[in-house]
Amino acid sequence: MKIAVVGTGYVGLVTGTCFAETGNHVTCIDIDEKKVEKLKNKVIPIYEPGLDVLFDRNIKQGRLDFTTNLKEGIKGAKIIFLALPTPPGEDGSADLSYILKVADDLGPILEDYTVIVDKSTVPVGTADKVTAAIAANAKVEFSVVSNPEFLREGVAVEDFMKPDRVVIGTSSKKAQKIMEELYAPLVRQGNPVITMDEKSAELTKYAANSFLATKITFMNEIANMCELVGADVDMVRKGVGTDSRIGKRFLFAGIGYGGSCFPKDVQALAKSAKEVNYDFEILNAVMSKNETQKTKLIDRIKDHFGDIKGKTFSVWGLAFKPYTDDIREAPALVNIKALLDAGAKVKTYDPEAMENVKGQLGDSIEFCEDEYAAAEGADALLIMTEWPVFRTPEFDKIKTLLKENVIFDGRNLYNTETMAELGFTYYSIGRAAVK
Ligand code: NAD
Repeated sequence: MKIAVVGTGYVGLVTGTCFAETGNHVTCIDIDEKKVEKLKNKVIPIYEPGLDVLFDRNIKQGRLDFTTNLKEGIKGAKIIFLALPTPPGEDGSADLSYILKVADDLGPILEDYTVIVDKSTVPVGTADKVTAAIAANAKVEFSVVSNPEFLREGVAVEDFMKPDRVVIGTSSKKAQKIMEELYAPLVRQGNPVITMDEKSAELTKYAANSFLATKITFMNEIANMCELVGADVDMVRKGVGTDSRIGKRFLFAGIGYGGSCFPKDVQALAKSAKEVNYDFEILNAVMSKNETQKTKLIDRIKDHFGDIKGKTFSVWGLAFKPYTDDIREAPALVNIKALLDAGAKVKTYDPEAMENVKGQLGDSIEFCEDEYAAAEGADALLIMTEWPVFRTPEFDKIKTLLKENVIFDGRNLYNTETMAELGFTYYSIGRAAVK
């Protein structure tokens, strides 16, 4: 099948590459000329484990190509995916201008029956808006399908190739058949393709992300309680996570969720609810609690040091989670800003995200070649992202590098007893401080 993917970011590039891998011919289209130039030169502009092998193979075998020209890119395509940004607008609702602009542009250039797929996360009713925008100028028949994407950055290829489920929102039998044919190679093990109406599909994605954000926030609230009553959140986590109704995942306490999806999707769902005069109170609490959770360790730092003006902090981890270079809404950046605002200095190391942070913060902080260089001469160490490389560091070496043996751990990487034995002052989330 010939497919076009409009928008070649984290979702679009993975979608395009994976569908090429299952034998389709895919053209990826993006307005960012620099990005397309890189892709044409076989350079992947993002860090996503495992993507390179599939990317190289499918380019070599002539199934994957790139262009900035929409008309050229969609020529002959039976399916056109829209994997475009839907950032929060000023009022918190999802900004649909990217999607509707492309929908306007598509109308006059469709040459034959085409399935247009909303892959972006979009509010209820967007399929109708996209349909109206295309229909205004289309000369041929087309269907708009909602097919939300559930991949996680860092394991995106695996998630895409073996999805837990595929959600297809359409009222057209013809489009449904084409979509099912496309996804068949990815669900051979029997994972379901769930077909529903467009609105339910659109809401499914927001419900999933908002539920997960709520689960994280709930556990952070339990962690805050643990600190006040002298309980250990890791024990509570194990105790509740073994209940099959609750499940083990998304129960780790920390300094809050970030990333390009949860914050904006929770906000957009709350806003959508408001538009239909529904006060989705839980979501408002989740958003405000997550904000305060992000800087919890700053309070601990100030309690420990008093004035931190002139002090140096080593920050391990910048990405919003491990295995990605994505720094959108990363809690690390909020913490760095708080430290700089208080007159402190920051030295940092992240295995993949430093280039992106350099683009934002320039030389206001020091970027180091590894985690030990970042610790050298610092007054304390802060852990912001749970990269595996930070899990078992050489603690004896860290002791020789830090001015004071104190660690503020926003991801609960270390055992508190071990830290006590090693002689560290150790603050984490939802567990007793080791002093
Ligand atoms: P992204 O910002 O990484 O990529 C979007 C791309 O679209 C960019 O390369 C941009 O240049 C391009 N673009 C903008 N306007 C264009 C136009 N007119 N024509 C062609 N290209 C254009 O975004 P993303 O992270 O891939 O997210 C895309 C959508 O998928 C969002 O709605 C997001 O919520 C959703 N989503 C993201 C993830 C994730 O983990 N990143 C997961 C599931 C769903």
